[in-house]
Amino acid sequence: MKRTLSAILLMSLLLSLSACAIPTLPRTKTESDPEEIPEVQETEPAVIIPETPEPTPAPTPDPYADKPDIDINSWEFQLTNSYNSIGEYQPPYSVFEGQGINENIVEQATAFVKAAREAGFSAYCSTILRNYEFQDSHYKSFVYNQAADAVDAANRMLGPGLSDHQTGLAIDFTDDASYNAFYGSFDDAYMKDTELYQWLVEHCTEYGFILRYPEGKEAFYGTPCNHPAHFRYVGKEAAAYMKEHDLCLEEFIILYDPSKVFLPQP
Ligand SMILES: [Zn+2]
Repeated sequence: MKRTLSAILLMSLLLSLSACAIPTLPRTKTESDPEEIPEVQETEPAVIIPETPEPTPAPTPDPYADKPDIDINSWEFQLTNSYNSIGEYQPPYSVFEGQGINENIVEQATAFVKAAREAGFSAYCSTILRNYEFQDSHYKSFVYNQAADAVDAANRMLGPGLSDHQTGLAIDFTDDASYNAFYGSFDDAYMKDTELYQWLVEHCTEYGFILRYPEGKEAFYGTPCNHPAHFRYVGKEAAAYMKEHDLCLEEFIILYDPSKVFLPQP
């Protein structure tokens, strides 16, 4: 019995010693520890691309290399629009259809109007030459008479020095024999829907004329003349080229000398 008790006591002592065991503390790095070797990540080998010279772009072929050999400083290309004034310039003029016209185009204008009439149309020239003084008073009275909307009126009418008509190279067509060019509020916007207008657009280049204010080119010319059937003489060669390449007068002149066309900054 005594031996058994001793055995139990011994067992208890062993158990209690085990329970009092010193807890394991986390290890801290000591001088004697070997340096940790960082894990090396496997990376893709760098691909070395040999430097190649920038490819030389193939020269873009000039779509206007075949432009006519003309003198852009000649009278046919005199430019006036919302942004380019010709001041008080007045061309040498003759009388045609009861109005003044640049004397250089009497023959060409005669052939153009004659052809339209021979095609069966009642064709009249509502406005041809307007000198500086006329355009000045016309502009003022137009704006004055529409004073209720003067700003809009000013934006629809060109001031003196800015009208294509001052060159004497432009003709406004109408089919209305009673049209009076002095009556500023005459509205011939309907001309665009007439067969005469279609004929003029189709045949004008044969006589050296162009449609001066084509839609979509406003950024170049600004405010168009108030009349849609406004045709302008530039000579047969230039007219045919502008039609073929869909160029307005400003764009055509820029091909030869951009400094001749002032364009406002957008
Ligand atoms: Zn006009």
